[in-house]
Amino acid sequence: MAGAGQTPRGQAKYHVGKSKIFSSQFGCQEHTLISPDEMRALHPLMNIQDDDIYGGIYTAGDGHIDPSSVTNAFANRAKDLGGIIEQQTEVVAMTLLPDKRWEVITRTSKGEEKRTVADFVVNAAGLWCDVVGRMAEVRVPSVVIQHQYCITDPIPAVKEYHDKHGHQLPVLRDLRGSFYIRDERDGILVGPYESAETMQLAPKEWRETGMPMDLGNFLFEGDVERLMPHLERAMEILPGLAEVGMKTVLCGPTMWPADGNHLVGPAPEWDVAPNYWLACAESYGIAHSVGLSSYLAEWITTGEPPYELKEADPARYGVWATKDWVSVKVREAYGLNNHPHFPNENLLAARPVLLETKPLNSGIYELLEAKGCQFGFHNGWESANYFDPSAGGKQNGNAYGSFQRPDYQKHVLEEVKGMASFGGICYWPFSKYHVSGPGAVAFMDRLVPNRLPKVGRCALSYFLTPQAKIGSEVMLARLSEDEFYVVSYPEQELFDWRWLQMQRDSFSSDPQTPLKDVDIKNVTGDFGTLMVSGPESRRILGQMAGDEAAWSNDSFKFYDYKEVTLAGIPCRALRVSFTGELGWELHPASGDLEPLYQALKAFEPRLNDWGGFAMGSFRLEKGFKAFGSDMTRDHHALEAGLSKKFLRMEKDFIGRDALLAGASVEPERRCVHLGVSTPDGLDCVGNEAIFNETTGEVVGFTTSGGFGYLAQRSIAFGYVKSSTLDSGDSLAIEVLGERYPAKVQEGPFKPVLPLASTEPVQSPSATPAVQRSPSAAPAAQSPSMSCSAGGVEGRK
Ligand SMILES: Cc1cc2nc3c(=O)[nH]c(=O)nc-3n(C[C@H](O)[C@H](O)[C@H](O)COP(=O)(O)OP(=O)(O)OC[C@H]3O[C@@H](n4cnc5c(N)ncnc54)[C@H](O)[C@@H]3O)c2cc1C
Repeated sequence: MAGAGQTPRGQAKYHVGKSKIFSSQFGCQEHTLISPDEMRALHPLMNIQDDDIYGGIYTAGDGHIDPSSVTNAFANRAKDLGGIIEQQTEVVAMTLLPDKRWEVITRTSKGEEKRTVADFVVNAAGLWCDVVGRMAEVRVPSVVIQHQYCITDPIPAVKEYHDKHGHQLPVLRDLRGSFYIRDERDGILVGPYESAETMQLAPKEWRETGMPMDLGNFLFEGDVERLMPHLERAMEILPGLAEVGMKTVLCGPTMWPADGNHLVGPAPEWDVAPNYWLACAESYGIAHSVGLSSYLAEWITTGEPPYELKEADPARYGVWATKDWVSVKVREAYGLNNHPHFPNENLLAARPVLLETKPLNSGIYELLEAKGCQFGFHNGWESANYFDPSAGGKQNGNAYGSFQRPDYQKHVLEEVKGMASFGGICYWPFSKYHVSGPGAVAFMDRLVPNRLPKVGRCALSYFLTPQAKIGSEVMLARLSEDEFYVVSYPEQELFDWRWLQMQRDSFSSDPQTPLKDVDIKNVTGDFGTLMVSGPESRRILGQMAGDEAAWSNDSFKFYDYKEVTLAGIPCRALRVSFTGELGWELHPASGDLEPLYQALKAFEPRLNDWGGFAMGSFRLEKGFKAFGSDMTRDHHALEAGLSKKFLRMEKDFIGRDALLAGASVEPERRCVHLGVSTPDGLDCVGNEAIFNETTGEVVGFTTSGGFGYLAQRSIAFGYVKSSTLDSGDSLAIEVLGERYPAKVQEGPFKPVLPLASTEPVQSPSATPAVQRSPSAAPAAQSPSMSCSAGGVEGRK
């Protein structure tokens, strides 16, 4: 049971509660919102004032469990199933064999060594996962931190409750005090999460290299002073606590990744450590053990995760997530453990990621920062959410955190209008790879379900899983006959990298299609991307290039890519657009990003800056589903609505068998584009329940949503039962506890805002070449190239 107080922060917590109730609509653990009176009835020892508390969330099946019993239950079940457990035995080394299995050397406490050949390895070494990671050159971006709880002497009222009811009190969570309280015999255990400032990490040496192997039962010294702010609040809620002494203050080491989730999945370094899996940094290793182990086992045995759980995947952290970085970031996560999390949350600790002393994307970063850029974090890179020149160089972070439409909307509106009426620039840190070599065509052809682009062309494509779920959305640009430039979402960098490596391994070992000689390079850091969009973009780029005809609709068609030179800077240019507006992606060498941006602005100062939130508005209006929310490994290609154009059943590709199996059956649910009639200032954000208004039944859920600034309306995407969609019954979406009508939209939402018309400028006679950064490498080795990403069907 968790309570939420009557403060603005408390209101937000209550909103979290309202949105959480959604999950119970789907048969997940049952949560109910309860009143202060109901809270008192369930937990009679609790002292809460009505003017202090809005209400609480009650989880009927919640409780606690003894960790040792859980561990033994796992061990016994494993033995029942034929598993072998060797106790007092340490893994001391492992070597990758040519057939990509592992030779693992173990040593018993008596010094006996054994060699075992393993098809795959799972590093579940807890506090020692760094040590076991290093044996295979696998990074484990997590650090050891201190975590405390304390137990009181017996409390008479608790004993009385146990004697009277024959069971324990409910576990109580108080977000304001940032702790949980549960019975421990006839006393109380208080488990606080200290603030970011007071919480303590393990000594630096242990954070860097992991816990020493001989400290199996190590405990830090408990520090009750650090817990006092939590204990004082606990005594307010449970006055009986003040009457007894503290029996134990226990402070133990525990391994956390930067965001407090887990590191569960295949190692992202699949190229050097294939068949090496992580089940590490289990911050809530007891509570989540059953779910995570079943998730991992299914992935290992079937080749794909049973559901999307990117928030636990080790591939979310690149090499930039050093131990020092994790040490700073983990404080923030730990301190926010019991705080409400907002949609569009923007947490600022350990940002920007520094390479020595400079931001990872130094150059463009400082340039955008000077323009009031409010950055969003994408896999180590920083790019604009929106621009707020009035912020005086400060990052707003979560200052606008809210479940309502946030206050930064005025800035986004200006960006959207500026780009749609004239033109603008947006820097975006896409992930990028080169796939080349004699086997590249066969490899790519089997990897994606659609036709490969011809040389000089791009194709929007998908990496489907064996079950035909959507693993990634990529833009393929064909640089030459056997060379592809693959561009995907920033967050996908290591996910796609790993997928490419895994599939190359699996194709190579398949006697039907042995694929050799495929070279895969991650070139994410080598190229940067500026999206130049809007009605004037063609004129501006054509004039800058000194050849407007070459940028005409006939010469530079949608999905074309070319190698171009703008202001003396060579770059890959591809005509694609995630906004649905006319536009190009320019991919210069990373060192040329800033000079290219400066040259564009010098040539046409009226180009405005726009960011990711404006991009979101455009794509919502146009009806472009976003990979990562509307399309993930939770969604089958057919229910997500991938058209025949993307699914060429005449060829062999990953996911084809599953598609064939489902081809004759109508998907049970379909992804739909929805207009939602919410009151002004309130939008869907994703994960809201969708109801059939006629029957009152829950028939779906949203996957994303927001405000369409040009259409001036609230828009969402969601999956809805096909039977409901076919029946024509009306839909409603529950947003923060209230239901609002929603209507399926056919085609894009039309702009209703008048767009300013801008006088065209005179074409300058010549475009000066700009000073190029000395670090800039030549943009392209290949004869012709270009690309894009984040694309959708049906764009300009
Ligand atoms: C004070 C405190 C309170 C906590 N409260 C909770 C809670 O309420 N709920 C919750 O879910 N979690 C809680 N946790 C966290 C929880 O204890 C951990 O998440 C959990 O123990 C992690 O389990 P694990 O199996 O991943 O790692 P570990 O428990 O560290 O186990 C790793 C195992 O790997 C073995 N090993 C290591 N290296 C090797 C090697 N080279 N060869 C062979 N074996 C090796 C070790 O001997 C060990 O047995 C708490 C932690 C602390 C400190």
